[in-house]
Amino acid sequence: MLKESLFRFPKSLKRTNFHYCPGCHHSLVHRILCEVIDELNLRERTIGIASIGCACFIYNYIDVDMVEAPHGRSCSAGTGIKRARPDLIVFTYQGDGDFAAIGLGDSLHAASRSERITAIMINNTVYGMTGGQASPTTVIGQKTTTTPFGRKPEEQGYPLKVVEILSNFEGVAYAARVAVNNPKRVMETKKAITKAFLAQLEDKGFAYVEVLSACPINWKMDPVSATKYVDKLTEIFPLGVFRETF
Ligand code: SF4
Repeated sequence: MLKESLFRFPKSLKRTNFHYCPGCHHSLVHRILCEVIDELNLRERTIGIASIGCACFIYNYIDVDMVEAPHGRSCSAGTGIKRARPDLIVFTYQGDGDFAAIGLGDSLHAASRSERITAIMINNTVYGMTGGQASPTTVIGQKTTTTPFGRKPEEQGYPLKVVEILSNFEGVAYAARVAVNNPKRVMETKKAITKAFLAQLEDKGFAYVEVLSACPINWKMDPVSATKYVDKLTEIFPLGVFRETF
């Protein structure tokens, strides 16, 4: 099954061009997500929640029912849909600014309530769409438009480590941090996203997958350097499965 999906265009992925910048990892994660939806045969009963950020146009690329949530409210929108239609499979697709800044309250409470939804957070350490402002996950020393001299702990504090927080929540069935900057990690990401959907299919609780992703434009790097830089990020945001209760 895995071999087939590597070489076949996923049914859930629309045949259209992505609007993402060259070297952006959103498109890779979209494909992986579509492969998982296809392999679990969920296309006809999945609703995705698009958030605000670079991936707010995810509904142009993924051929499942989608709704757009206000900034930071994806987990709350997902909660409403899942509670109204528990037979459906609900996922959110959010950036670090959306999930961990503006939406932090919604995200943490959905997790602590053990809402049966799957949340995917793309962590590229910056607000991408709005021009590269610092986000909660901006790393120490990182230059952004709002930290032009680099993030300083004494001024902006330390990066928020979301998976480490969520892994302590009883309501969380699965929490993992992955990356897509090499083939092995792509496979691991697929495994993690599959597991996060299985948590929902088996009614186990809230599931969370954080994907460390390149944002070459706002990191002011070429695509190859940005992909390599994700390795540096793994020293600050270690990869792995942090919680798995089933
Ligand atoms: S700004 Fe960054 S996250 Fe947004 S599309 Fe471009 S590379 Fe991707």
